[in-house]
Amino acid sequence: MYDCIVIGTGAAGVSAALTLKARGKNFVLLGSKNLSSKIEAAEEINNYPGLPAISGKGLKAALLNHLQSCGIAVTPAQVTGVYAMGESFSVLTDGQSYEGKTVILATGVESVKPVAGELEFLGRGVSYCATCDGLLYKGKKIVAVSTSPAFEEEVEYLSSLASSVVFVPLYKGAKLSAQNIQTVRDMPRAIEGDMRVRRVVFAKQTVECDGVFLLKEAIAPSALVPGLKTEGGHVSVSRDCSTNLKGLFAAGDCTGRPYQYAKAVGEGNVAAHSVCEFLSLSDKDKK
Ligand SMILES: Cc1cc2nc3c(=O)[nH]c(=O)nc-3n(C[C@H](O)[C@H](O)[C@H](O)COP(=O)(O)OP(=O)(O)OC[C@H]3O[C@@H](n4cnc5c(N)ncnc54)[C@H](O)[C@@H]3O)c2cc1C
Repeated sequence: MYDCIVIGTGAAGVSAALTLKARGKNFVLLGSKNLSSKIEAAEEINNYPGLPAISGKGLKAALLNHLQSCGIAVTPAQVTGVYAMGESFSVLTDGQSYEGKTVILATGVESVKPVAGELEFLGRGVSYCATCDGLLYKGKKIVAVSTSPAFEEEVEYLSSLASSVVFVPLYKGAKLSAQNIQTVRDMPRAIEGDMRVRRVVFAKQTVECDGVFLLKEAIAPSALVPGLKTEGGHVSVSRDCSTNLKGLFAAGDCTGRPYQYAKAVGEGNVAAHSVCEFLSLSDKDKK
């Protein structure tokens, strides 16, 4: 069991990992080996102390070097669920599960709003992970909405199980050739059904289906962590970055504005210190 599971490899997650390492904690950093598309997106950053006019790419390289020099490896994973199990947390990814005494959520902010019905039908036909749930749809009709080419492999895997896949790429240049994949370029507006998902309503058409895979980099925190208190899509935190779930902390853009590197790094540091304090409390004090 890990002392802490850090989810997200942006500025906040990297900062949390560096502090946990300095404090000698046993942790895993889950995310992307490429860190965060937002880190490298900035043309020129002028408000990060000590690094005037650094480019986003330059900052990313500096963070990667820093992780490497401290012996911290990123474990590539897309987290699909975080479950409070009493005294610990179970974190599910696209293929594995991790157990931790604490969790730091540093998943950034989702720019796309959830589709109507997404949260209502989560676990009843809506899934975020082909590896985790694909087998449930053997011989069935599914819709796979994808925000990035990185998920095309998952769509191909789904097509090897399902009778038919309606593939909805929300980006340009997607090309999947399996016979049972039909590519549709349209915007999902709502997921509808009764006890389970029955159809997806798009801007220009409606597709009947047994399940919907929403393959995207960022999942709304409330969907990722059942029971987590959020406000306006952001995780509600106290000054010590604690959330309403004991042992679960949050840092960076996911906790709200301003969306800035310096704030993300600062909160990652605070969250890591709060984890250390939490771990040192006796079980009685935690209650
Ligand atoms: C074009 C652009 C320019 C900017 N310029 C500036 C600037 O000049 N100055 C400034 O201060 N800020 C700037 N920002 C904002 C800055 O990029 C963010 O505030 C900062 O990256 C937030 O860090 P974060 O760690 O909270 O989130 P992010 O950098 O968004 O990182 C979150 C990470 O978590 C990952 N993740 C999400 N969900 C999951 C999951 N379920 N499982 C695993 N991983 C997951 C994401 O893929 C991502 O890698 C800019 C942003 C953009 C887009």
